[in-house]
Amino acid sequence: MTAKKNAGGAKKTPAQKVPPQGPSMWMQFAIALAIFLVLSSAYSLAHEYVFSENEEVPLSKLASDIASGLVVSISVEGSTVKATYADESVKTSKKELETSFTETLKNYDLTPEQMSAVEVTIGEEGGVRFWFFQLAPLLVPILLLVGIIWYLSRQVRGAGMQAFSFGRSMARLVSPEDEVQRVMFRDVAGAKEAKSELLEIVDFLKNPKKFIQIGARIPKGVLLMGASGTGKTLLARAVAGEAGVPFFSISGSEFVEMFVGVGASRTRDLFQTAKKSSPAIVFIDEIDAVGRVRGTGVGGGNDEREQTLNQILVEMDGFEPNEALIVLAATNRPDVLDPALVRPGRFDRRVVIDLPDRKDREEILTIHARKKPLGADVNLSVIAERTPGLSGADLANVMNEGAILAARENRKEITQYDLVRSIEKVMLGPERRSHVLNKKEKEITAYHEAGHALVASVLPYADPVHKISIISRGRAAGYTLKLPFEDRRMQSRREFLDDIAMSLGGYVAEKMVFGDITTGASNDLQVLSALARDMVTRYGMSEKLGPIALDAALGKTLFGQGIEGGNDRSDETAEQIDMEVKLLIGNAHKKATDIIKKHRKVLDAIAKKLIEVETIERDEFEKILIANGITPKRKEDIEHASLV
Ligand code: ADP
Ligand code: ZN
Ligand code: MG
Repeated sequence: MTAKKNAGGAKKTPAQKVPPQGPSMWMQFAIALAIFLVLSSAYSLAHEYVFSENEEVPLSKLASDIASGLVVSISVEGSTVKATYADESVKTSKKELETSFTETLKNYDLTPEQMSAVEVTIGEEGGVRFWFFQLAPLLVPILLLVGIIWYLSRQVRGAGMQAFSFGRSMARLVSPEDEVQRVMFRDVAGAKEAKSELLEIVDFLKNPKKFIQIGARIPKGVLLMGASGTGKTLLARAVAGEAGVPFFSISGSEFVEMFVGVGASRTRDLFQTAKKSSPAIVFIDEIDAVGRVRGTGVGGGNDEREQTLNQILVEMDGFEPNEALIVLAATNRPDVLDPALVRPGRFDRRVVIDLPDRKDREEILTIHARKKPLGADVNLSVIAERTPGLSGADLANVMNEGAILAARENRKEITQYDLVRSIEKVMLGPERRSHVLNKKEKEITAYHEAGHALVASVLPYADPVHKISIISRGRAAGYTLKLPFEDRRMQSRREFLDDIAMSLGGYVAEKMVFGDITTGASNDLQVLSALARDMVTRYGMSEKLGPIALDAALGKTLFGQGIEGGNDRSDETAEQIDMEVKLLIGNAHKKATDIIKKHRKVLDAIAKKLIEVETIERDEFEKILIANGITPKRKEDIEHASLV
């Protein structure tokens, strides 16, 4: 199996959202009203109940009592009549609502003299309280319903509100006062050149006047370029932190979300908000999501993307250099960016962030070890040595996985062994001990890996084997880990050729030992074919075709993805390329076959040991080599950590 290390997912840095609008006021008011109505109607009912405590008499009886002078006073509330008698007893009665009380009494033939003998007070209840009482049974359910709907709508706000908030910028803001979220240059290890270039920007944001007075034109846009996980986002935040200015950030992919036109209005919003709090930084992460070359027709001409990109350009042209607003953008695909973005006056500064070298890696590990208790045996420089090709994010991940391993085994400190295991986990995915190979599969895998390891050890330009294992990891049944001692930025033709031969080691061993081939070699074949093709078409490493880059047009217009017919190769050239690729692979195949034939005894020895112990570390592997007359390499080169 061959697997290339894949960069771990970059951790998103948490940042606070620009505060959304609070729950609407009238809703809160409606809830309060509903509660009030419920209470008041309850009160009314209780009131009614108290009334009915008194003896109820028909109106005719009351009228005759008034006529006989037994009643002292009367109070009328709505349809309820409350009469106080001379003997201090209280009796109630009902009258029709529409007619007034005196009118009613007249109907019972009472004379005005008789009526004037009693004191009549008309209560307020016919007014407000009456109407509450009448309307409450109707209003309360309605208000309850509205309340429930409001409550439910709050639950789905996270998803639902997006549809309502389009146009608002959705940018995250880290304010300079936010001590927890603030990142400084000291939190970013390595990247010295990048930091020193960005220092100028920091200077300007801190003291824009100084620059403007002397007539200096300050860059509007700075493009951070580098592989994913190299700390572009982190560095952008550090610039804001150092300068002590607000940091507005939005990701290119967020623009391309919903409706056409949203991206453009969001961009406008974002810049408007940022301008208000200038000096400030606007950070557009993953700008390649919106900033790809326009009008290639590939990808269906996304209108939304183009409009957003245009709006970004308009905004950047629109603000004056003295506005002290600087746009930082990050991308790991600078090759696909629209040329309009990198014109002077836009993102005319470019800062490249490389993968960390050995010293940087140690620094990054040290930064991420800050809050973790390390055991006495931990040596971060050894870890840095064993992790060429890993990005800052991967290294942060290694430290984290180490801590998880220690915690899972209930230890209080992280040991070196935890970290060593984490490296493999980050590079290859977790071990799958549960994925048990049957006896035959185990044998085949052992011979396959032994084949890789043997070829790697015999060929002079392949890098040394660090570990062989037939414990499955990720998708691989087994793996051979080979690591260089130092990072290198260049690889030579000889190294590539040995690489291809080594990748074929597994395939050749299987065929020779078992007379058959399994699917286990498919990934090896894919990788080595791609490498051979690159040698011919990109690196000018084919003797027949010579120094020519045949995919030069690809990266620019076709997003780096080869699309058939999308380039200007002739059929004849295509045929020649295929021939050359075949030739390279054929030669490598012969080399691998010769080596395995010649050292069949060693192959058997390695495979036997593998079946027995499943994992062989470097020391033990070299003992087997020496016992069979092969001198282990002490070569210190080759760029990437790769697995075969
Ligand atoms: P990018 O934006 O380039 O993909 P990030 O800035 O998101 O990478 O980095 C992801 C994480 O990796 C950071 O939050 C940080 O924890 C870690 N990291 C990356 N580079 C460095 C570095 N140079 N120093 C310290 N930590 C780093
Ligand atoms: Zn393999
Ligand atoms: Mg990022």
